[in-house]
Amino acid sequence: MIKRLDLPPYTIDPQKHSRYDERQTVFMRRFWDRKASFYGKEFRENVGEIIACDSPGYSRLDFARILAAWTVHDCFSDAFSWKRLGQVDPSMIKLGKHPVPDPALMSKQVKETARMYGADLVGICELNPKWVYSHDRSGDPIEIPGEYKYAIVMGIAMDKEAVMTSPAFPSAVATGLGYSRMAFTIACLAQFIRNLRYSAIPMGNDTALSIPLAIDAGLGQLGRNGLLITPGYGPCVRICKVFTDLPLKLDRPIDFGMAETCKDCNKCATACEVRAISFEREPSYEVACPSNNEGILRWAVNADRCYEFWVENGAACSNCIATCPYTHRSAT
Ligand code: SF4
Ligand code: SF4
Repeated sequence: MIKRLDLPPYTIDPQKHSRYDERQTVFMRRFWDRKASFYGKEFRENVGEIIACDSPGYSRLDFARILAAWTVHDCFSDAFSWKRLGQVDPSMIKLGKHPVPDPALMSKQVKETARMYGADLVGICELNPKWVYSHDRSGDPIEIPGEYKYAIVMGIAMDKEAVMTSPAFPSAVATGLGYSRMAFTIACLAQFIRNLRYSAIPMGNDTALSIPLAIDAGLGQLGRNGLLITPGYGPCVRICKVFTDLPLKLDRPIDFGMAETCKDCNKCATACEVRAISFEREPSYEVACPSNNEGILRWAVNADRCYEFWVENGAACSNCIATCPYTHRSAT
């Protein structure tokens, strides 16, 4: 049963919590953190040896599919632009700003539009500045102008059958396709909002933490595996978002019992080949590695071990998605 809440279903210690610095992710620490076991390691660096072993699901063809799946995400950087793409159509200038007398109707229309562009889930929340990164991956501070009051948060469902092959390469094709579909969807939705003569900042994993925003927007809850668990697709979704000043009605967060379910289910922890996921029954404020942010009550995932496994595997792993009962229940 899904309950609608007045407050998000997470607990933060404001004394310990601060905005996350994107340079703390394992993907950036590998460039600067000399203490990290994966310092200087690119997670695809062993792929030649892995392909040479000729194991099923680890062929050169599979690997070519992974890289190609990322094409739109990696080669269409304009998707993440804070400014409109191309010239404004003169007819849009004449039409002026779209009046929004009914934010609830506007929210419904935005959600319909996001689904047209490829979103499988859409929720809207107030933009909580504490989820915005303090600095981007280059070390530049991030400040979102105050007029961006809303976050439109979208879930892009991944190919469940491909994810089930994890940790073999076809599961990483599903990951790459999820990211490319994210780039396509946010770029189109941001342009739609700009055509109504409002502002839009589209983003994937950059600029702000996706999972707490998705929880705030009512898409799901945090799982033991450190991922967003949604009622419809489990953790088998990628998350992207668009910040905007377009007046919208907010969604409420949801509770469908994940916290209790995860206490009695260790399937993701058991499936993780490097024990990166906690087996503790209760969540805590303990962190598991330098990439974890302080001050959040949860099961912290050891992202260092996770990344080390990706290096060993030659590709992203999705074992903790593939084994979650909520992925199995999903319709995709
Ligand atoms: S992605 Fe794989 S290695 Fe990383 S936490 Fe999940 S199961 Fe473990
Ligand atoms: S596999 Fe079980 S413990 Fe892990 S996130 Fe899913 S429900 Fe929670």
